[in-house]
Amino acid sequence: MDVIRTVAGLRAQLLAPRRAGHRIGLVPTMGSFHEGHLSLMRRARHDCDVVVVSLFVNPMQFNDASDLVAYPRDPERDAGLAADIGVDYLFAPAVEEVYPPGFATTVSVAGLTDTLEGAHRGRAHFDGVATVVTKLFNMVGPDVAYFGQKDAQQAVVVRRLVRDLDIPVAIEVCPTVREADGLAMSSRNVHLSPPDRGRAAALHRALSAARDAVRAGERDPRAARERALAELTSDGIEPEYVELVSADELAPIERIDGDVLAVLAAPVGGTRLIDNELIQAPNGDGRP
Ligand code: AMP
Repeated sequence: MDVIRTVAGLRAQLLAPRRAGHRIGLVPTMGSFHEGHLSLMRRARHDCDVVVVSLFVNPMQFNDASDLVAYPRDPERDAGLAADIGVDYLFAPAVEEVYPPGFATTVSVAGLTDTLEGAHRGRAHFDGVATVVTKLFNMVGPDVAYFGQKDAQQAVVVRRLVRDLDIPVAIEVCPTVREADGLAMSSRNVHLSPPDRGRAAALHRALSAARDAVRAGERDPRAARERALAELTSDGIEPEYVELVSADELAPIERIDGDVLAVLAAPVGGTRLIDNELIQAPNGDGRP
């Protein structure tokens, strides 16, 4: 595996495979790899001729400067893990390579980014995500890019920006990888103290409670939401939000019908965690 630091170096490496018609896959990451990241890399390795993993802790998407400083980083371990999977190129540019002096352009996806994470982290978060993802697509020129369902709103935003800007890349969204107790893997989990690590399993239990209620016939999103909320509060967790929204537009729903997304964000100890669960409810009354 080659570690590449510059856009020019990356383009030089990808020229020949692109001309040969090889399928190029991109896995964008901020590093500190866990099984969630590795699952995306394995999927890309399976699907593509050339696999590029980007490793860039994007300052533009951090709304909190202390969160950026504290963000876990372990580039040497990351390089070893990516190499073991058979990644071809680890693209790890410096901040100045991505944002040179005078950088002045922002990609902003309206509407979809006003709610949930956008509402709680502020507009700058998804502007930072949309801008860096657009840049990575232009730098790499992948045929396909892999994202995790773990960041459900990010996946919806990326699909929209690709459609709106006619970027010729297929977006694959891969399932959330979880710990044995259901906690979604996240680079931020290392910040959890042992007691908080135990309590953090309540996030997945809350989403499962909402899902079970829907499976049992609940069609009122407020009632399903209450079930989730009860799981969190019983563990002393005060969420920033718990919502059931439409899976495609992330819009509020009046009645549970078809695919809905249960989403939540909650601080556990000092660590802000997010999770979601796609729930399939039968259309209509659910009657045969
Ligand atoms: P990050 O490094 O946190 O920006 O994540 C890089 C990619 O990995 C994003 O597309 C995430 O959605 C995805 N990802 C993060 N955690 C998980 C997980 N537990 N399961 C699957 N994908 C994940």
